[in-house]
Amino acid sequence: MSTRFWCESAWVDGQVATGVLLTADDTGTLISVETEIDTPPTIAEVVPGFTLPGGVNAHSHAFHRILRGRTHGDGGTFWSWREVMYSVAAKLSPENYETVARAVFAEMLAGGYTSVGEFHYVHHAPDGTPYGSAHAMERALARAATSAGMRIRLLDTCYLTGGIDSDLSAEQARFGDGTIDGYMDRHSSLSEAFSTEFPVESAGESFVYVGSAIHSIRAVPAANLPRFAELNEPVHVHLSEQPAENEACQAAYGTTPTQVLARSGVVATNLSAVHATHLSEDDIATLGGAEANIVMCPCTEADLADGIGPARELADAGATISIGSDQHVVLDALRETQGLEAGERLRSGQRGRFSPAELITSLTTGGARSLDLPVGELAVGKACDFIAVATDSMRTFGSVGEQIILSATSADVHMSVTGAQVRVRDGVHTELGEISELYRAAFAALEMED
Ligand SMILES: [Zn+2]
Repeated sequence: MSTRFWCESAWVDGQVATGVLLTADDTGTLISVETEIDTPPTIAEVVPGFTLPGGVNAHSHAFHRILRGRTHGDGGTFWSWREVMYSVAAKLSPENYETVARAVFAEMLAGGYTSVGEFHYVHHAPDGTPYGSAHAMERALARAATSAGMRIRLLDTCYLTGGIDSDLSAEQARFGDGTIDGYMDRHSSLSEAFSTEFPVESAGESFVYVGSAIHSIRAVPAANLPRFAELNEPVHVHLSEQPAENEACQAAYGTTPTQVLARSGVVATNLSAVHATHLSEDDIATLGGAEANIVMCPCTEADLADGIGPARELADAGATISIGSDQHVVLDALRETQGLEAGERLRSGQRGRFSPAELITSLTTGGARSLDLPVGELAVGKACDFIAVATDSMRTFGSVGEQIILSATSADVHMSVTGAQVRVRDGVHTELGEISELYRAAFAALEMED
């Protein structure tokens, strides 16, 4: 049984096409993409507006969503924000995290994302002891993603030290695996278990993938980093988000975080550097020369007063730019993508630093490369994952072609599809219902006041 969608207009082969007929097989994988079909076939669902490959959210910490709208009262810094974040992390259990993450992934779908790289470090019970049921937190995230219909690359994160040469603090205890061998053993056990439970059989049908992450240069000693160069999977790392991280790295290693990673052999095409805010010219050349991926999170970087990273220079040097929502101050694929260009304009005094087509590429194929997922294009063999944006709303009326990427918001996303199944329609999850009600359940499960 095949499923067909006829799109009024859609992003195909890097341009706007009209009358696009998408046909997916019974695994939800695209088997045909035809353009200039003037009349929708009767068996096809008609998709009005502009259809884009589903947005790829290449950097997420699902539980950080709970902090939204609750950390602005007293100003503060990245570091004081982190203290509040730890207080939420301390409340998480496998049971309530599944409830929280299900709501977040549903909101993410409504916001225009159909795939996520979940940078996950809350592995163990609050005192650091492993849960009796192996990989309990990781399974909770996988169940949350599959129940919402979100495609996930679970970036299993290594977090060994609280800072360079300092032990984990009490609130960080549950992130740690003790030693690099402890991490690698748990990671290979997780990869093995998930490859059995969630076998990768077809692009459309496979929703759970495993990758790895180095939390940051603060959290993994340089001597341990070469172990990540041996991994044949996406490797993500928070890189130079704050000047204090660079200063600590200079003091300990005499060079920048990027160069510490490069010396360890992990700067390669499978590396994604998240933020990459405070870089030297050498760092830009190193990341670009290795054709690494960069995950820019403009809304979070603005919210945490991180600064604006050199995205244009990184792209020109050879890096691939992708988009992430990180701590989810907003979950809006369009606004997040607009933030990339907005930051560039503010720091350069020039418009058009990234063309509308480049912005769409960052949100779609850029993220697909970062997470190594068979998504990001409306093309045969890829998963049938897409979002449809209204072209006749008060925000988008009159927008010309792909310039809608700079005018639409998540309020214009009227349909989100993964594996050829409609997951969210007009802001309501087709299986889970009202997403605000999912949050009501999540806040109750955390015993937090809403
Ligand atoms: Zn992050």
